[in-house]
Amino acid sequence: MSFEMTGPLATSDPEVAKILGEELDRQRTTLQLIASENFTSPAVMAATASVLTNKYSEGYPGRRYYGGNVFADEVEDLARDRVKALFGADHANVQPHAGASANLAVYLGLASAGDTILAMRLDQGGHLTHGSPVSITGKTYRFVSYGVTPADDAGTGERIDMDLVRDLAIRERPRIIVAGTTAYTRIIDPQPFREIADEVGALFMFDAAHPAGLIAGGAHPNPVGVADVVTFTTHKTLRGPRGGAILCNAEYAKAIDAAIFPGLQGGPLEHIIAAKAVAFAEASRPEFTTYAHEVVKNAAALGSALATEGFRLVTGGTENHQVILDLRAFDSELTGKAAQEALDRAGITCNRNQIPDDPRSPFVTSGLRLGTPAETTAGMGVEQMATIASLIGRVLRDYENEETLAKVRDEVRSLCLAFDPYPDPN
Ligand SMILES: *Cc1c(COP(=O)(O)O)cnc(C)c1O
Repeated sequence: MSFEMTGPLATSDPEVAKILGEELDRQRTTLQLIASENFTSPAVMAATASVLTNKYSEGYPGRRYYGGNVFADEVEDLARDRVKALFGADHANVQPHAGASANLAVYLGLASAGDTILAMRLDQGGHLTHGSPVSITGKTYRFVSYGVTPADDAGTGERIDMDLVRDLAIRERPRIIVAGTTAYTRIIDPQPFREIADEVGALFMFDAAHPAGLIAGGAHPNPVGVADVVTFTTHKTLRGPRGGAILCNAEYAKAIDAAIFPGLQGGPLEHIIAAKAVAFAEASRPEFTTYAHEVVKNAAALGSALATEGFRLVTGGTENHQVILDLRAFDSELTGKAAQEALDRAGITCNRNQIPDDPRSPFVTSGLRLGTPAETTAGMGVEQMATIASLIGRVLRDYENEETLAKVRDEVRSLCLAFDPYPDPN
């Protein structure tokens, strides 16, 4: 794809066009292993670049504040219908600008300031919007946190501690119980959370930001209909444009819609909503089911090859699109920060991550989080996962040697060019 380097942008603003061209080159020639990223389709990108960016559409289809919304209504209705069909939901709100706004809207719509919310600890895999003190969520609501069970040698530990969830729910009587994580490698079964929520009279929100695409593709259990509300991002495993969405049972529709607008946001991004509609249609096709299962298979292959390289896998393996490495078993001196920076120089893009009970700070960490959604989209399979694991092993065994990093960088470039996510159309 060459739209970054030619066309109206290159003519009118070569400075920005050049930066975008360089970013395109970076995405094509380095390995994208950030678990929350993907390569969205040219069709999704075409919709984001459409004239709908010009339109003000405050309100909802059929109930807008400004005129001229015939087509904004059509596209937003299409997006809502498609996502409801995809997940089997009663009601959908496709206006959240991001996963963070979707989560905040649920709290705003279904709880009051100061209410108790039970969610996953940030340092064990939860998200900032699950009550971090630096987030508006943590400043506005009273969060109580659960975590994971201790690590064990059998690889059966570091799982969400459901006994703790139940004990805390009984003691704290939360208004909302939140399931969902940002760094966790196991399937999250919504059913036990539902039972605990019913036992204590709490609402149950499932934050599917990460696994939304795996759920849509049938590789993970669907929380829709089990949870009262499901939030997710459209840009992670779901492979759509950057944004968020909320699905809920009919009885919460009014409260959720009012929380997004006028509660939290102004005019919706109808061009992004058009792109969400495109992504929802893509995710409903049989190819996407294949894709979701390949993502999981690739993560398992990457994980077991990395275990062979000497890394310890948090939870002992993976059932989703992520692999979380405990670097201490590999090299007790190696920090997540140093590993991330060395891999970056070798063209392997990933992020450092705290592991459960990490002795190091969130800025330094003892872990790395890797993900397979993007490179699976590019067409890589289990064979390439083994290659990637050995490249990572080579870099991290010799991470201060620039010669090794440069050599791996060349091999990474050749590998990526054989699996170009955006081949030139001509
Ligand atoms: C990514 C993520 C979010 C937030 O999504 P943004 O689009 O970055 O705001 C919320 N919850 C979880 C669990 C996430 O992983």
